[in-house]
Amino acid sequence: MKYCSTCGGSLTTELVDSRPRLVCKSCNHVHYINPIPAVAAIIEQQSSVLLVKRAVEPGKGDWCLPGGFIETGETIAAATVREVKEETNLECRILGILDACSNLGTIYGDIIVVCYIVEILSGEPKAGDDAIDLGFFKEDNLPRLAFRCHTRFLAKFWGRNLDSSMHG
Ligand SMILES: [Zn+2]
Repeated sequence: MKYCSTCGGSLTTELVDSRPRLVCKSCNHVHYINPIPAVAAIIEQQSSVLLVKRAVEPGKGDWCLPGGFIETGETIAAATVREVKEETNLECRILGILDACSNLGTIYGDIIVVCYIVEILSGEPKAGDDAIDLGFFKEDNLPRLAFRCHTRFLAKFWGRNLDSSMHG
């Protein structure tokens, strides 16, 4: 970011709250950069979990849990239901929260991913939006996953012990 999104003035880096931050030279607005909230959904049927194959970077061609970024004005749960519908064509409802995970330094910056366990209400699985394929996979037959957080969510869902480096 080079220019102030509030007034269009040029930005400079200053220490604010002991961290280097972008500050506007004209209006003094401090441009805080925070992690972006995202969601992921675990949908299980007959001991298999629904994954989608990614059509876009990051992780193009790899697989992941259905999910995406939360829109402004949308709750975390509503974002999860919407993303599942967009990527899998399934209507679902939230059963409960599984975990949250930080994914630092992505092409979008830092991301916080909240993972819900959801249940299918209706619909036939069909890949859409950012997904080019989908399928149900058992724990011993997982394809390559695009995101470390999703690997962690699945390990927790299946009750596996996690390496301490996976926390956070
Ligand atoms: Zn400004």
